[in-house]
Amino acid sequence: MTFNDFMNKVTAKNQGEPEFLQAVKEVVETIWDVYVADPRLVKANIMERIVEPERVVIFRVPWVDDKGNVHVNRGYRVQFNSAIGPYKGGCRFHPSVNLSSLKFLGFEQIFKNSLTTLPMGGGKGGADFDAKGKTEQEMMRFSQAFMMELFRHLGPNTDIPAGDIGVSGREVGFMFGMYKKLKNEFTGVFTGKGQNWGGSLIRPEATGFGTVYFADQMLKLKGESFEGKKVAVSGFGNVSWGATQKVNDLGGKVVTLSGPDGYIYDPDGIKGEKIDYMVEMRASNNDQVEDYAKKFNVEFFPGKRPWEVPVDIAMPCAIQNELNLEDAKNLVNNGAKVLCEGANMPCTPEAIQLLQENKVLFAPGKAANAGGVATSGLEMTQNSMRLKWSRDEVDEKLQTIMIAIHDQCVEYGKKPDGYVDYIKGANIAGFVKVANAMLDHGVV
Ligand code: NDP
Repeated sequence: MTFNDFMNKVTAKNQGEPEFLQAVKEVVETIWDVYVADPRLVKANIMERIVEPERVVIFRVPWVDDKGNVHVNRGYRVQFNSAIGPYKGGCRFHPSVNLSSLKFLGFEQIFKNSLTTLPMGGGKGGADFDAKGKTEQEMMRFSQAFMMELFRHLGPNTDIPAGDIGVSGREVGFMFGMYKKLKNEFTGVFTGKGQNWGGSLIRPEATGFGTVYFADQMLKLKGESFEGKKVAVSGFGNVSWGATQKVNDLGGKVVTLSGPDGYIYDPDGIKGEKIDYMVEMRASNNDQVEDYAKKFNVEFFPGKRPWEVPVDIAMPCAIQNELNLEDAKNLVNNGAKVLCEGANMPCTPEAIQLLQENKVLFAPGKAANAGGVATSGLEMTQNSMRLKWSRDEVDEKLQTIMIAIHDQCVEYGKKPDGYVDYIKGANIAGFVKVANAMLDHGVV
């Protein structure tokens, strides 16, 4: 079978699922040569099997709002692949949630989780529920209603969800509470839990920390470090503040932050009380980064993105498609050396192509932001052992994992001229481990 034949078959089978088909194409394109070169994988038809979820659960979620009105949402859990461990992936509550978007996210999660070196399979779930404007009571009732069906499909050795868009620590608490009541057992069935009931230290900042550890490895490959480097960060949320903190720790200087209203340029660097202020801004649900400019007397650029500022390293940490072709051109013209994705899919395909053509080292979120789910894996380990590790212990393990992810990308993505294609490296490394496990398990 050729790659085109394969895609035609997958497309015919998954009509009306554009996000999922796009993800399959992007991943399979980069691993096809490795796949067809191994007759064992072809004979076992691993590629057709790996794009088919092991199980999808779709269910009704009825709930009552504060005024007594009854609503119905649709809940999902895509249990995509359990070849290397129990299903693991977040729950998203957002009106855009549908089967296609969750299959796309679940599929990507297989490879991200495989890269972490930890035993976690891939899954994703959620509901087409709009969390905006809901009261705490409504969030609790919805989370509980969602769990009243989902609980029977979960378990610490079966499927371990976490938060995602619209699902923060509060909702994880509501869902965990209902799970515990229905099952009558206290188990590590969620990650991102509260610190008093099984959560791991460092989990909130793990994604940002991990992204910087990954970028540090990219710099080391060029014989460089963060020391004295100027860094552009976007967003001001969890990933952004963790990344900003760690860049400071490693001797670099973050000079930008952004929000939906524009970006700020702080030539002295964002550090100390300024990072505390970022955390406050995020916690207050205030989406005006302009407030930072007023408080610290720096320049604010309304409606613009930070990629026009001359920097050595760019770290998009906010949202999908926030860095396009024009932005990539600016970065290349201003001499940026490294782009490391903290967010999921922040760069458009055209931007990535231009960066790679100009030999800017580019790391996809799948590898660079895997520190979040990796630390979730560490949370599962602590729960299984009924122990709680110190900050330093978790941080040290996170660093080791990010270095291992980087090494895998280099192993499979290094070109003859020494340039590393991190996208190809991440996809192949993630795939090989899962594919070999599937082979070992026979046709199931
Ligand atoms: P947060 O909601 O904490 O932060 C996102 C930040 O980006 C917010 O400050 C948000 O502002 C801002 N933002 C929204 N739209 C724009 C825009 N158009 N331009 C600039 N800034 C904008 O989310 P996280 O930090 O948790 O996640 C950020 C990204 O990282 C997402 O893509 C997420 O999927 C990914 N990720 C997160 C992980 C984690 O562990 N948290 C793990 C792996 C990936 P506002 O609040 O006003 O919308």
